[in-house]
Amino acid sequence: MTLLKAVRGTRDLLPPETDLWNRIEATTRRVFARYNFGEIRTPIFEDTSLFARGVGEETDIVSKEMYTWEDRARAQSEKAQSLTLRPENTAGVVRAYIEHKLGESGLLQKLYYIGPQFRRERPQKGRYRQFWQIGAEVIGPPSAGSESPLRDAEVLEMLASFLDELGITGWTLVLNSVGSSTDRPKYIAALREALAPVKDQMSADNQRRAETNPLRVLDSKDPADEAIIATLPKIADYLDDASKAHFAAVLAALDACGVQYEINPRLVRGLDYYTRTTFEFTVGGLSPQRAGAPGTPILGAQNALLGGGRYDGLSEMLGGPKAPGIGFAMGLDRLILTLQAQAASAPEKSAPAFADAFIAPLGEHLNAPALTLARELRRAGLRIELGDGAFRLKKSFEIGNKLARAIILLGEDEQASGILTVKNFATGEQTKIPASELAQALQNR
Ligand code: AMP
Repeated sequence: MTLLKAVRGTRDLLPPETDLWNRIEATTRRVFARYNFGEIRTPIFEDTSLFARGVGEETDIVSKEMYTWEDRARAQSEKAQSLTLRPENTAGVVRAYIEHKLGESGLLQKLYYIGPQFRRERPQKGRYRQFWQIGAEVIGPPSAGSESPLRDAEVLEMLASFLDELGITGWTLVLNSVGSSTDRPKYIAALREALAPVKDQMSADNQRRAETNPLRVLDSKDPADEAIIATLPKIADYLDDASKAHFAAVLAALDACGVQYEINPRLVRGLDYYTRTTFEFTVGGLSPQRAGAPGTPILGAQNALLGGGRYDGLSEMLGGPKAPGIGFAMGLDRLILTLQAQAASAPEKSAPAFADAFIAPLGEHLNAPALTLARELRRAGLRIELGDGAFRLKKSFEIGNKLARAIILLGEDEQASGILTVKNFATGEQTKIPASELAQALQNR
């Protein structure tokens, strides 16, 4: 029989790695709460037209990466419907904003999410078909200040603080402005004109993009096309005065609070809905490798930890009210890879998670009392591993030593006297501790 395996581009997350996932999620919730964000959870699948309209038909995501299926009607009252596993979460959040009339409060909505997204991309290091994103959106009616450059700066400052608090070092904030919805058509026309005489010399992908979506040519990482791309017009020269002033105000606020950045005039990002400020946080550096061999980039060919920007017209594109907004999505998988690589190259490795104690019942008739003791200690907040009375003492010590900092022996005598034998593996010290003082004693170790 052929063995069934996780589908290409997906993977299982196992302990102890999942501890790191949980730590990142806990840091997210803690940091984002300080900025008064609340959590939103939208469905994992949506009507296909949400992404076609919201992300853009011409994007790589919609044109070739979505998991889409025809969902058959199950009853007369239902209609067959084209559904899609969400490839990103901003469209879903904006759909929910419109559906629940969140704008009617007149206040800014500050929403964050953590969850899986799905894209049929070519799997490689740092790029998966099911991957996790942490994202946030600040959206609301213009009267709530949703267009203000202060919102952009606040989101960027939050991200800088988040990455610092997580312990990620060496990140770079890369920024650009892609202008308003009236600036972009002028720029795209100029790009088309500049590309027309040279596009035949470019890669097949870029030839296609030059026709369908010339902005995407700037996104291209194809080294062979670099020289041509460097000669193309820059969007900064096509911004109207309002967009220029908006961008200048974002930069001034970042300067004032000491968040460093680089401007990259080619940063246009992969999704159609962006306006004005767009950004990425990247991380360079190499993963440590065996002696002599060169290191490989931490994130493989992908160096973007996260990306985002303003989407002032998205709500209207989805049939909603005017609701400018700014948001970002960051790859949880890529945060993990970065933290793991940076921890591995740090001089000291952090110790694996150990249980506070391993309880060894000395005989199967002591299994139930051992479970009771484990329950009490766990309720006191301790991390406890429970052995089995069928194990020989030697085996209990071997397993305990692998899993826990101490072993608690629960034999006939201990059961009768209520005084337990505890051995600390690190010091070799063996002590007798009354059951009533055990939790306290283990906590103090
Ligand atoms: P995007 O929605 O394409 O702007 O992506 C935002 C962030 O999500 C990226 O910067 C990555 O960190 C992450 N990301 C996007 N696609 C993938 C993928 N296929 N695998 C892992 N992470 C991804």
